[in-house]
Amino acid sequence: MSVIAEQIKVLIELQEFDLKIYKLRRIISIKPEEIAALKKSFEDNLKNLKTLEENLKNLQLNRKNKEMDLESREANIRKFQEQFFKVKTNKEYSAIQKEIDTIKADNSVLEEEIIGVLDKIDAEKASIEKEKSSIAKEEEALKARVKVIEAEIEAAQKEADDLNSKRREIASKVEPRILTRYERILANKDGIALVPVENEACSGCNLNVPWQVINEIKMMEKIIICENCSRILYIND
Ligand SMILES: [Zn+2]
Repeated sequence: MSVIAEQIKVLIELQEFDLKIYKLRRIISIKPEEIAALKKSFEDNLKNLKTLEENLKNLQLNRKNKEMDLESREANIRKFQEQFFKVKTNKEYSAIQKEIDTIKADNSVLEEEIIGVLDKIDAEKASIEKEKSSIAKEEEALKARVKVIEAEIEAAQKEADDLNSKRREIASKVEPRILTRYERILANKDGIALVPVENEACSGCNLNVPWQVINEIKMMEKIIICENCSRILYIND
């Protein structure tokens, strides 16, 4: 067996390990993003709750202001009513009565408004309760999901470590010059650096491999790469 033939044989074995390691690394790098996305969506819900609570605070402030306004207007009415005892003419009397009627009319509008605000406060409180209970459920689900994902990452990490130590052993049998070339392709081509020619096509990119190139691969005198995807080509016996 030629040197190249032996090297290809080792590379085929190495590629099997490297593809598995590549897939595990994808898990290890992508899964934390999944956790981050879940946490982000949970935090958005917390922000929602905060907005609802802020709304409630404003409504309560609004209610307090209206009630204070109503109180001071009622105090005004009492002041006018006290003046009844001091009036001497009908004209004065009806002037005071007119003032009182105006304030009373305004007050009944204000009272309606207060009732409206109270309704809104009740509705807001109900929304807050609903949001809180849904957040509590979501938090439970989030914790459980994060635990599962973290376990997946840990398992992938452990498996990758195991495979890596075996991989090193195999890689030590590859000539450094060829290994460097192989690893460079591996890094650029999604974990697949070495592919068989199948049905006269590169199985990495499906492009047709000319028969001259197929002959060159068969001669096993040098490493042949696909002219389209740059992966190392070999032919299965
Ligand atoms: Zn190709």
